Amino acid sequence: MRHIEKTEPPEEFVDFCKTPDVCFESLSGKPKRALRKRLLEDQGYICCYCGCRIADDEHTKIEHIKCQDRYGSLSLEFSNMLAACDGGEHDRSNRVRPLHQCHCDAKKGNDDIPVSPLDNSIEGLLTYFEDGTVVGTGVGKELVQTLGLNVAYLVSRRKSIITEFLDDEPDDLEAELHWLKSMHDGEFEEFCFVLEQYVAMMLANQKELVAAV
Ligand SMILES: [Zn+2]
Repeated sequence: MRHIEKTEPPEEFVDFCKTPDVCFESLSGKPKRALRKRLLEDQGYICCYCGCRIADDEHTKIEHIKCQDRYGSLSLEFSNMLAACDGGEHDRSNRVRPLHQCHCDAKKGNDDIPVSPLDNSIEGLLTYFEDGTVVGTGVGKELVQTLGLNVAYLVSRRKSIITEFLDDEPDDLEAELHWLKSMHDGEFEEFCFVLEQYVAMMLANQKELVAAV
């Protein structure tokens, strides 16, 4: 999970919120599209939780960190919103998947998460492994559970990204790390934080080796 730094809500959305008696359900058309675009831009077009690619279309969900059902007063709060993938809630035949196979917002539902991607500490709470699994430290354990971050689909995506990287390992790991930490044409690489952690670990190992010589 990558730490997200939010910018400002778009004007169309701010104007909509000034209309009396509006709620999230009544948000549609231009203000909703502008909001989704801003969330995507802030996140470099990757899901706030799993890091898969998300696009400016109806498959991308506007996720409420604190759910609308229990925190109604935050339903139009920009700082409570993120852009998330659809969490695999439907299979290829459009059948609804059982909850234990879903991830991200679709798995989280009305549950709370102990810490969100807006928190600076988020990146130190999850460790990604070469086999594609992720392990949480402290409250990170709850994050993994609540968001279904170890569902088979995500494990296999992360594993293949690490495998591809190792098959074509770049010579300059520092440059690679810098590349992964930056947006390119407004987008982060899919699952960039997984590789980022992996490359940082390889660099640390290299330095240790050099120091030992
Ligand atoms: Zn996701």
